[in-house]
Amino acid sequence: MELDVNRIELTPLTILTPLTIVHANSMNLDQKLAILADAAKYDASCASSGANRRDSRDGKGVGSAGGAGICHSYAPDGRCISLLKILLTNRCLYDCHYCINRRSSNVRRAAFTPEEAITLTLDFYKRNYIEGLFLSSGIIRSADHTMEQVVQVARTLREVHDFRGYIHLKTIPEASPELIEQAARYADRISINLELPSQQSLDRLAPEKNLGRTKQAMGRIRVKLDDAADRRKTGDRKLRHATGQSTQVIVGADASTDADFLARSDELYTGYKLRRVYYSAFSPIPEPSSVLPLAAPPLIREHRLYQADWLMRYYGFRTSEILTPEQPNLDLRIDPKLAWALRNRQDFPLDVQKASRGQLLRVPGLGVKNVDRLITIRRHTRIRLQDLAQLRISLPKVRPFLITADHHPARELLDSDSLLARLAPKPVQLELFGHAPR
Ligand code: SF4
Repeated sequence: MELDVNRIELTPLTILTPLTIVHANSMNLDQKLAILADAAKYDASCASSGANRRDSRDGKGVGSAGGAGICHSYAPDGRCISLLKILLTNRCLYDCHYCINRRSSNVRRAAFTPEEAITLTLDFYKRNYIEGLFLSSGIIRSADHTMEQVVQVARTLREVHDFRGYIHLKTIPEASPELIEQAARYADRISINLELPSQQSLDRLAPEKNLGRTKQAMGRIRVKLDDAADRRKTGDRKLRHATGQSTQVIVGADASTDADFLARSDELYTGYKLRRVYYSAFSPIPEPSSVLPLAAPPLIREHRLYQADWLMRYYGFRTSEILTPEQPNLDLRIDPKLAWALRNRQDFPLDVQKASRGQLLRVPGLGVKNVDRLITIRRHTRIRLQDLAQLRISLPKVRPFLITADHHPARELLDSDSLLARLAPKPVQLELFGHAPR
């Protein structure tokens, strides 16, 4: 039997399956899902993991981690969760050159009603396909009209259906602050895509977008997030509010340098307390605009940017230490920490027994966890190379930079011109669908 969703009164008990619903415009929910899940896949700001997908659609086994629109993300506590990742519509008033859903793009268009998006979410959730929803949208009629629909989905899920799953809402900076605040009230995470690091780049590739407006919206969200965090501290258990905001930038769609991206990220982390900046390598889209490059940037560039981003957030590096005006792009051959160490050889070797935590964090091959373990271990014993190996630390990588009880690297080794060649990994082709850096 086919049902017309527009005539169905939804109650918390209403469960409709994609196969039984046909929308008034004759496109059924499966067809819409195929279009709107595919259109959402370009947004990296929910941290799709690209993990192998398992499903039971062949009739064997139970459960599914695949299927249209299901992607993987990381919850604030680090758990990997599956999300239904969809756009409410891929129609859009804007004409961002890099976007397949732009006004001038010749793609099939579709739109979910808020009720359809709610039904799909509940249905997938109750079948155990997903643990949450990632909802974004093209801009239809106006920013406010679109945000109202996005908020309606989240509000109905929370208030009518008591939905306790994870919700990530993409917000529109041009929407009214009240609507963005409402989105934050129902979502666990909200994000606004910055897309490009400067107004100059936006003017060229996304003429309707404005950096100042986006930053203003992020600033307002930050104030609300801080406010909610304070209220939580005072024991306000009833408060439901997003706990963080994130953004996405597109790398390689124009001439913006890695220094441009990292400087902007640094500003967003420090000034706006963003949880994450996602770097998404520009991927050529069907029927691309003539202002776009013909080829995608090497995937390794995206990977190096994530590594540099981690150095800023967890290792105490400043952007100006990672890149300089003379060297505005990351070295694609080696990770940015090794590149920094090779430029600052005078700071090494460091004595693992005496160096401060901050100094040890700068040693190539030492991660945060291992630095903390070493600091604990050295209280009781003189650390030897064998101890490093037991912590699965790469000895070839750390040996030139560290002094241990049984090892003192020769100064000539550290100063040698061949050190880079010895430490640079053999070139490997990154897999397009391999694990993305978290
Ligand atoms: S606003 Fe720009 S990036 Fe977003 S859907 Fe519309 S065209 Fe695409």
